Amino acid sequence: DSHAVRLGFDNTYSRLPERFYARVNPTPVATPRLVKLNLELARSLELDPDALASEQGVQILAGNRVADGSEPLALAYAGHQFGYFVPQLGDGRANLLGEVMGRDGVRYDIQLKGSGPTPFSRRGDGRAALGPVLREYIVSEAMAALGVPTTRALAAVTTGEQVFRETVLPGAVLTRVAASHLRVGTFQYFAAQGDTEGIRRLADYAIARHYPEAAGKKRPYRALLDGVIARQAHLVAQWMLFGFIHGVMNTDNTAISGETIDYGPCAFMEAYEPDKVFSSIDHQGRYAYSNQPRAALWNLTRLAETLLPILEFEEGSESTAIASANQALAAFDSTFAAARASGLRRKLGLFTERHGDAALVEDLLQRMATNGADFTLTLRRLCDAVAGSQGDEEVRNQFADAGAYDLWAFEWRRRLEEEPVSAEARATAMRLVNPAYIPRNHVVEAALDAAVELRDFQPFEDLLKIVSRPYQERPGLERYVTPASPEECVRQTFC
Ligand code: AMP
Ligand code: MG
Ligand code: MG
Repeated sequence: DSHAVRLGFDNTYSRLPERFYARVNPTPVATPRLVKLNLELARSLELDPDALASEQGVQILAGNRVADGSEPLALAYAGHQFGYFVPQLGDGRANLLGEVMGRDGVRYDIQLKGSGPTPFSRRGDGRAALGPVLREYIVSEAMAALGVPTTRALAAVTTGEQVFRETVLPGAVLTRVAASHLRVGTFQYFAAQGDTEGIRRLADYAIARHYPEAAGKKRPYRALLDGVIARQAHLVAQWMLFGFIHGVMNTDNTAISGETIDYGPCAFMEAYEPDKVFSSIDHQGRYAYSNQPRAALWNLTRLAETLLPILEFEEGSESTAIASANQALAAFDSTFAAARASGLRRKLGLFTERHGDAALVEDLLQRMATNGADFTLTLRRLCDAVAGSQGDEEVRNQFADAGAYDLWAFEWRRRLEEEPVSAEARATAMRLVNPAYIPRNHVVEAALDAAVELRDFQPFEDLLKIVSRPYQERPGLERYVTPASPEECVRQTFC
């Protein structure tokens, strides 16, 4: 019909062999209602926000109507969950609607999450609850605003249906935008079946979509592996620099594109605590804050294993393929360490690299850990301390023993003096990498509670607006800057 909402789909995954996915439409819901539409993101994807917000648009975002050009797919993948291999997971509650080209020239997946059962649902209902949908919306948009590679949230709709978890909850569907939904687990799916041709097709697809420079190399599959390792090392370094704890770093939640994907029991830590765990399902602390680089390398090692048959094709023998994979994996630690170190130097206002910087940084972190200092606020208030207007009092307040900070600050200032940079320029640079606003867990919980229990979406809207401009501190928003009081403190997060 002439009024059809045009999303301009241009699909490539649906051209891959049928064993890569199941063709399945979303399951319609009772009474779709648009809760939130990401206008800015819609425009960056050349999607018309008015069309998306129209009745027909909302029907598409709820899965009640299949848009022109949409070829809904549930993707097949496997994965190691907390170290245990599951040969078939797949999209059990998601439909890839299709792909669109962004204004940036990048191809993006448009996916509904919570859109009904698929052949991969196992015992699941295929649905999502409103709370987790809004959590993913807030946290993924916060990550994007911080500058961390991530999937995005285009829309959230309520379904008018109930979902049954430990309690009865309102249902919702999230529209997720991703550079792709290829995962380490997608490669594992084919590897587990000994389907070398599938691995090759998938690798070629990943190269074309995410690592086109690899195609021109002498060993394209090795270049693909190098590329994924480098992007994951940079990604996890970014997480560490913002105190982000993913919570479920399973191989099916490790994106080949290098984006953060799957916001479940994730959290930003408040008091700096290297072994911090929030996830209620992470009993062993496998995905604790400080374990994240190790977990990423473990996942990348699983990826390298799946690539061995096609690396062998490039290298000539199994033993040289293994050597090549090991060489690629060996780069992870140094790439991660360099990204983390340069990020930390920038956060402390250091423009150059000098001997002793690493020790200075680690000394601060150590003192923060012993003194329960809030990770985000301490670093933000260091910017003010550099600017000089407020002195160091606000930073000192973050430390149980302010003297622990003073001793470190003395060394820090001595180091700053080695660089001829004005206090103003330094504070400005620091404020571009040390956010004032992160989605603090207790504020997120309060926003979700208001939405779920009272259908009051104002706290969600407010929080979203604030974390979407994380580096620019505005008056009157102290509640969003301040760490939780002991009574407010969130100690556990749930999927
Ligand atoms: P996750 O822990 O979010 O990475 O999900 C792991 C696997 O469980 C994926 O294959 C999901 O599609 C599937 N899954 C999670 N929740 C549901 C649900 N409610 N219904 C069906 N499948 C689900
Ligand atoms: Mg997942
Ligand atoms: Mg999930």
